[in-house]
Amino acid sequence: MFAGHAALALLAKAKRPSIPLALLVPVAFAPDWIELFADALHHYNREISHSLVSVGIGATAVALIYFALSRVKLDAFVVWLTYVSHWPADFITGLKPTWPGGPTVGLLLYAHPLGDILVESALIVACWLVYTRSLPAVSRRRAINALIPLGLIGMQIVFEAIQSPNFG
Ligand SMILES: [Zn+2]
Repeated sequence: MFAGHAALALLAKAKRPSIPLALLVPVAFAPDWIELFADALHHYNREISHSLVSVGIGATAVALIYFALSRVKLDAFVVWLTYVSHWPADFITGLKPTWPGGPTVGLLLYAHPLGDILVESALIVACWLVYTRSLPAVSRRRAINALIPLGLIGMQIVFEAIQSPNFG
């Protein structure tokens, strides 16, 4: 999944507005950042970035740090959920490792780019609707707010056109 991760960050922001979006978005993409970073160091390994084990460890580490800083248990839990949401979201679109020596699983929607764009666009619109309803009326009416789903769907279409089949 690509732009859908940002949509899930918006959903988390709608539910817990005190958590900065600037934290939620990178957390929602965390396994992809780890994948890119490891690749840059020539240690490409999807078990390190995307296995259930690594996602569990990464999410717990980030949530504990957030709890230490915010002291709000529910916010830390939502940060944890945002990180963990990466795995089921990627399960729908790709193939993901589970645990060391375990199977690689997924529905591989990436094999059907149009289907993937439709599913991620639906997720983007649904999450954005929840997010926009959580905003005060004055911010909700700002034109920039309507650009969020358009921008994310546009990102998804570009991603679909240029992506390497394994990434995400
Ligand atoms: Zn991913």
